[in-house]
Amino acid sequence: MSIARQGSRPLILTIDDDDMTCLMLKEILSCEGFDVLTATDAQTGLDMFLEHHPNLILLDVMMPDMDGFTCLESLRAIPETRLLPIVMLTGIDDVKSIHRCFGLGATDFIAKPINWPTLPYRLNYMIRASGALKELDHNEAVLRNAQKIAHLGNWDWERCTDYITWSEEALKVLDLAPKYSYSPRLSLFKTVHPANLQRLQQALELCMKQGHAFSLEIRLVHADKTVHVAHIQGEAEMQQERVEKIHGTVQDITERRRIEDQVHHLSYYDPLTSLPNRTLFKTIFNQSIGHCARNGLCLAGLFVGIDRFKRINETLGATVGDRVLQLFTERLAHAVRNSDYIAVTRNLEKPATTVSRLGDSEFIVMLNSIRDTRDSIKVVKRIFKEMESAFEVEGNEIHLVANIGIAVYPEDGEDVDTFIKNGEFAMNHAREQGQNSHRFFSKDLHIAAFHKLSLENRLRHAIERNELVLHYQPKVNLQSNKTIGMEALVRWQHPELGLVPPDQFIPIAEESGLIVPIGAWVLDTACRQLRTWQLAGMPPLTVAVNVSAVQFRHKDFLLHIREVLDSTGLASPYLKLELTESTLMMGVHEAMAILQEIRTLGIRISIDDFGTGYSSLSYLKKLPISELKIDQSFVRDIPHDEDDNMITSAIIALAKSLSLEVVAEGVENQQQLDFLRQHDCDTVQGYFFSRPLAPEQFSQFMFKDINNQEGVT
Ligand code: C2E
Ligand code: MG
Ligand code: MG
Repeated sequence: MSIARQGSRPLILTIDDDDMTCLMLKEILSCEGFDVLTATDAQTGLDMFLEHHPNLILLDVMMPDMDGFTCLESLRAIPETRLLPIVMLTGIDDVKSIHRCFGLGATDFIAKPINWPTLPYRLNYMIRASGALKELDHNEAVLRNAQKIAHLGNWDWERCTDYITWSEEALKVLDLAPKYSYSPRLSLFKTVHPANLQRLQQALELCMKQGHAFSLEIRLVHADKTVHVAHIQGEAEMQQERVEKIHGTVQDITERRRIEDQVHHLSYYDPLTSLPNRTLFKTIFNQSIGHCARNGLCLAGLFVGIDRFKRINETLGATVGDRVLQLFTERLAHAVRNSDYIAVTRNLEKPATTVSRLGDSEFIVMLNSIRDTRDSIKVVKRIFKEMESAFEVEGNEIHLVANIGIAVYPEDGEDVDTFIKNGEFAMNHAREQGQNSHRFFSKDLHIAAFHKLSLENRLRHAIERNELVLHYQPKVNLQSNKTIGMEALVRWQHPELGLVPPDQFIPIAEESGLIVPIGAWVLDTACRQLRTWQLAGMPPLTVAVNVSAVQFRHKDFLLHIREVLDSTGLASPYLKLELTESTLMMGVHEAMAILQEIRTLGIRISIDDFGTGYSSLSYLKKLPISELKIDQSFVRDIPHDEDDNMITSAIIALAKSLSLEVVAEGVENQQQLDFLRQHDCDTVQGYFFSRPLAPEQFSQFMFKDINNQEGVT
């Protein structure tokens, strides 16, 4: 495209076989601020045009080889001359030639002899006009392109014809053929979805009659049957209080709507399970409240948590974890659908249940319209039933344990946040009760939690205020009848609460992380005490210290043990650590590495409460342990309970076969002792010999023990 030479002088090409005219044009126009190129025949003129792109051409009509008409025709055949001013120079002033020139695309003509004084003005005017045209042309192209990108077209209706003029893009949006670019008003409705037709007709008529602007979203059905969403607007142009024209736009917003829908879905639904998320749940809840009030129904939320779901992700990977969650969701939905009570409330305006996902492994089943809160128990039972069989994912058999907290509206929370908080609270309590349990939220629960919280706060100060004490319970070897060691058991000497047993505060310490400093204190105190006794001449004893899972996995655990041994001067063989099976089985490989380090230090390891967890024999063989402690629940009823007899003797046999020492705890009477002796148990611990004793009492006990032994021998 020839572009006006900005900043420099306009370039004019003169094509004329008359040398004299050429010379004069060049002379005069140069003085008037133009640059001038001269061609004395048509062909040279065409070539020069292609090379120099002038801003205007002055073309003589009468030339020998190729005349001006032919040259003009050839020039106009070149697309970029579309807006180029071509001015014909002619000596013949006849109308026929002028007609012909304009017919071939001449911009203007100048008759010879030329009126020199006015020529520069005429040419300047034409160059300016063509510049303005080019700019307009460019802007229109930009607009057309923008409309194309935005799928935005425009249209104009006029009253006098009742026709609409459609832009190219508008035709595309409406899926109309190009022949409709100027067509009767009815063309507008051709592709509109029948459901939207009336609305559009009314809007248009109102605009035509009363000048009301309109803006509508309509659906269109294209010839290929695809449904599009379009936004159409119209604005009236009034003349003498009558609508003469309507100017409008129409835009295809299908893609925008799709993205908006997607964004909506992502904001309100969980992508993994497609269940409503927490945000949408809140809306659902608020709607349900109104519905319940209108129909005199109750509302219950079952807060379903999958117990220790994190472990699945950690051990089998997130892909398996995700799949399990999807399968879990399906079963949950199935359980809820098949619950009996739902039949009662069918045909109501709202679905009787909705399942949402509140967190990673937390779901809520809303029972939107139940007559009695007890109905919720039926659903709970269904859910647990669904969970009975294993989930099979990628060759893994996975058993899930669910716990359910139940909150009822409005008793357990009138607003959604309180409702969720209390439901989750009940769920956490259900988890503490054990596998597959459920729990209603109640005020009592809250009070218990408050108590726990205040206990936790007091426990925080227990160490610094020296309120913790250790008691020691002797362990007696059955062959030698001698005390060979003791277990250190912590107690909390609280100024108001008295002596608090560990069962009441260790779980709180474990949950809050306070077990780490408490455990460190216990280890240090026990080692220091034993070293003091050793230095005082007490016969060699080992001290067993209980270690919680949190403490065992703490990064500074090993470091701390070394420090304690160093600072107390206790030799490592005198220290024994008691760990439970679950502590070890939770991440066996990691546990193995820590155990190995402990063994390298020369410290022995005992498995506490053996038989209550889920040790696998294959691991047991690999672990560097030296002792099994039979849990007191098995010892309690021997020799009367056949099962316990069997279990106890089996554990003893197992320990022997693995060359481990075996200790029975909770021995309270002679019969138990006889049974254990008979079955070759190495060591016993229990009230029969002694309760856990404060340090001074323990010293006395040892003193007596030694004297007894001496007396016996
Ligand atoms: P555990 O390690 O299994 O300790 C044995 C528990 O059985 C002790 O309860 C002990 O007093 C009790 N016991 C001993 N002989 C008999 C008996 O003949 N009959 C009956 N009925 N009970 C007997 P305690 O001291 O209340 O400790 C309970 C649990 O608290 C311990 O169980 C242990 O798991 C935990 N614990 C105690 N001290 C510590 C500690 O310093 N750190 C950690 N992490 N846990 C501790
Ligand atoms: Mg123990
Ligand atoms: Mg125990």
